[in-house]
Amino acid sequence: MGAEPKRISIEDARGLVLEQLSRLEAEEIALADALGRVLAQDAVAPTDLPPFDSSGMDGFAVIAVDTEDAPVALKVVGESRAGTLAQARVEHGTAIRVSTGAVVPQGADAVVRQELTEIEDGAVIVNEEVSAGNDVRYAGEDIRAGETILHAGTLLGSAEIGALAAVNIARPVVARKPRIALVSTGDELVSPGPELEPGQIRDANAPALTAATHAAGAEIVTSVRVGDDRASTVATLESAMQGADIVATVGGVSVGPHDHVRPALEQLGAQQIFCRVSLKPGGQVCLYVAPDRTLAFALPGNPASALTAFRVLVVPAIYGMLGRDLTLHTARGVAETDLIGTVGRTSVIRCSAEMHDDGWHVTPNGDQRSHILTSMLGVPVLALVPEDCEVLRAGQPVDIEFVG
Ligand code: AMP
Ligand code: MG
Repeated sequence: MGAEPKRISIEDARGLVLEQLSRLEAEEIALADALGRVLAQDAVAPTDLPPFDSSGMDGFAVIAVDTEDAPVALKVVGESRAGTLAQARVEHGTAIRVSTGAVVPQGADAVVRQELTEIEDGAVIVNEEVSAGNDVRYAGEDIRAGETILHAGTLLGSAEIGALAAVNIARPVVARKPRIALVSTGDELVSPGPELEPGQIRDANAPALTAATHAAGAEIVTSVRVGDDRASTVATLESAMQGADIVATVGGVSVGPHDHVRPALEQLGAQQIFCRVSLKPGGQVCLYVAPDRTLAFALPGNPASALTAFRVLVVPAIYGMLGRDLTLHTARGVAETDLIGTVGRTSVIRCSAEMHDDGWHVTPNGDQRSHILTSMLGVPVLALVPEDCEVLRAGQPVDIEFVG
């Protein structure tokens, strides 16, 4: 391996990631499984919502002009309940009792809420005049049949799922979940469980990156660990690529004698797109594209580096495959205290955040070195201090990204 390539900016790296990936195919799913999925095509309402003119209140359906000389007595000739139509129609001098959400009976053009009435001898006394349309919810006033209610690329949350159900889209068409294969490298790694032998550490990255994968709307199809050995790294990577859209390796990405990821990827015919990004922590991250177009992200091993590089570059790849918008997660904040940068690298600072009148104020969350896990805990935002900036002073605006 020759001299280390020049670091590229985060924006350029993201641009290259987006250039290399393809949108995934669409699939139909049940609404019960739709939380966190991304629409692959516009959702067009097949029906009106509300589907019929309905009452907005418990009360009486009337002909509005009949209430002109209120108080007036109108004969009650039936009832329209939610789900059960009235048998009669409203004629002049009559009213029909209605419940909230019940069909406005034929002949009526207004509803008088119950609080404005009294009942006397089978008649309703309407105490106030109402105008036509009073307390009526008209068919299609929320959604018209044929209207696009949600656009492709929309992330489905509870409100979106409710609206799809309301217009009878029971099986939305969403992007297939990106399939991620995780490969953790390192002779020293042990899963939580057995006692550690001297020199061993727990594998913190595989569980963290699995969770980050799920949070981003993708799925893990393989999660394996491989020792620091060239032949097994090649074999593990080769099988991890099968059936995966993205392979993310962790550790072994440097140029030491026990770092095998990059030569192994090259041996498998993968093409390097970039290596080293102007990012701290996590700058030692490379992107390769395998001959079958699988994206391979080689992430550094230190936990803060691995998770930061994953959030900054792999999550955009996942969103790109899903057709989901990334800008949702970015904003401008204000530095609450000085934020220390690193000239030549964009510093991604794990921050706590507090809402003030002028927006989010961000404060570094402790020791920012790449092996420190505690400063990643409970962090809602990452603050990006630009690469030309030694110190971003308190009170200055700063780009922030919300952590998924
Ligand atoms: P490497 O990039 O393989 O040289 O690893 C850099 C540092 O990260 C070393 O201290 C590793 O022990 C540590 N490391 C690598 N992988 C993991 C992991 N999965 N969980 C926790 N620490 C790790
Ligand atoms: Mg290692």
